[in-house]
Amino acid sequence: MDVLKGNPYFDAGFGLALMGVGLGLLRQASRYSLVLARRHLLVSMEVTNKDPAYPWVLQWINSPQRFMAQHLTATTSVQTSATGDVQTLFSFSPSPGRHIITYKRRWIAVERKREQSMVNVNTGQPFESVMFTTVGTDRRIYEDLLIEAQRAALQETEDRTVIYKSFTFKWQQFGHPKRRRPLESVILDEGVADEIIDDLQDFKASYQWYVDRGIPYRRCYMLHGTPGSGKTSFITALAGHLGYNICILSLSDPSLTDDQLAQCLSVVPQQSIVVMEDIDAVFVDRAAKPDGFKPGLSFSGLLNVLDGVVAGEERILFLTTNHIDRLDSAIIRPGRVDVTKFLGPATRFQIEKMFLKFFPSDSSLVSQFAENVSGTGASMAELQGYFMIHKHNAQSAVDDAKFFARAMASK
Ligand code: ADP
Repeated sequence: MDVLKGNPYFDAGFGLALMGVGLGLLRQASRYSLVLARRHLLVSMEVTNKDPAYPWVLQWINSPQRFMAQHLTATTSVQTSATGDVQTLFSFSPSPGRHIITYKRRWIAVERKREQSMVNVNTGQPFESVMFTTVGTDRRIYEDLLIEAQRAALQETEDRTVIYKSFTFKWQQFGHPKRRRPLESVILDEGVADEIIDDLQDFKASYQWYVDRGIPYRRCYMLHGTPGSGKTSFITALAGHLGYNICILSLSDPSLTDDQLAQCLSVVPQQSIVVMEDIDAVFVDRAAKPDGFKPGLSFSGLLNVLDGVVAGEERILFLTTNHIDRLDSAIIRPGRVDVTKFLGPATRFQIEKMFLKFFPSDSSLVSQFAENVSGTGASMAELQGYFMIHKHNAQSAVDDAKFFARAMASK
C-alpha cells in the first residue's frame, strides 16, 4: 500500500474516478429532479386519434385566436354540387411536431405525434396523438379546453348536415358540413312527406315500446320511383329538419364484405340516418350483379343488417331504388322495410307548388301551366331545369309550356 501512497499516477486515476462517480450522480440527480418536476410542476393531457375529440382538438388548436401555426398539414376535399359544379375546399391543422399556444394566459406546449410503425389494422391509418403540457397543477384547464373545442366543433356543424361515407370498417366525413336544405324546398305529392315525418317522429318517441317487446329499435323506409323525383333531396332535407347527419353506405363497393358492413352499422355516428342508395344495383334475385362485381357481401349479410341484428342504438335506414320491381321480395317484405313510398313523375299538385316556388307573385298563371304539363311524365328535376331557363319570366314559362310538355311526353 505504501507503494501506492504518493504515487502521482494513482492519485490522478483516483481523482478521475471520483469525478466520474460525482458526474454520474449529478446526471442521475438532474434526471430524477426533471422527472419530479414533470410530475409535480407540470400537467399534461394526451388525446389520441381513436378518441372522437381528436379532430375537434386539432381544429381548436389551429383557430386564429390560439396561434397561427407556420407548419401545417393540409386536407383537401372535393365536392360536386347537384348542378355539376366542382368545388375544392382546403382545411389545415398543425403539422406533426412541437407547437406553442397560449390559452387562458398560459403557455401550453403542444406536441403532435404520428407513429409510422403503428397503424390501425382496420383503416390503415397511422396512430396519432397530441400531447398538451403546461406549468401548474390544475388540470381543469384541460377540461375547459375540451369543452371549448367541442363547442366550437358543434357550432361549425350547427344548421349544417354532415355527410359520412363508409370506408372499410368505419365512417369518414365527406367534405365540409353542408348547409341544411329546408324541408319545404322538396315538394312531394300531397301528404307523402307528412306521412314519413309523422311516422319517424312516432318512432323516435317509442324507444321504450321497442325495448319492452325486445324488438330492435330500427325503422326502415324505402323510397322508390323515377330518377329526379327527389329521393335523395328529401332524405337530405329530412335529416337537416331533424338535426341528423347522413351516412351513405356504398353497397356497390367491390371490396365491401359482410363483416365490414356489420361493423360499419354498429359504429354509426350518433344522430344519423343511414342511406343505401340504388339498392337494386347490387343484388338481382339473390345473386351478385353479373358485370364483374364479385362481392364479399352476401345477400344474407345484407338482410341481417336490414333486420337490425347488428344495430347498436337507434337505427334509421333509408333505401332508394329507381326499380323496385328488380328487388328480391325478401328485401322489401313488411317488417324489414316498414314504410314504402313511391316518388314518381311530377303530379299536378307538385307542378303547381313548384311553379309558385319559382314565381310566387304569378299565381294567376299557375292553373294554365299545370294544365299543359301534368300527366306528361316530366320529373321534378326536369321541371326545375325548365323553370331555371325561364326564371325571370313566368309568362314565357307558360307560353313555352306546350313545347316542354310535348318533349316530356315523347321521352
Ligand atoms: P333522385 O334522388 O330521385 O334521383 P334528386 O333528389 O337527386 O332525385 O333530385 C335531383 C334534382 O332535382 C335536385 O337538384 C333537386 O333539387 C331537384 N328535385 C327533384 N325532385 C324534387 C322535388 N320533389 N322537389 C324539389 N326539387 C326536386
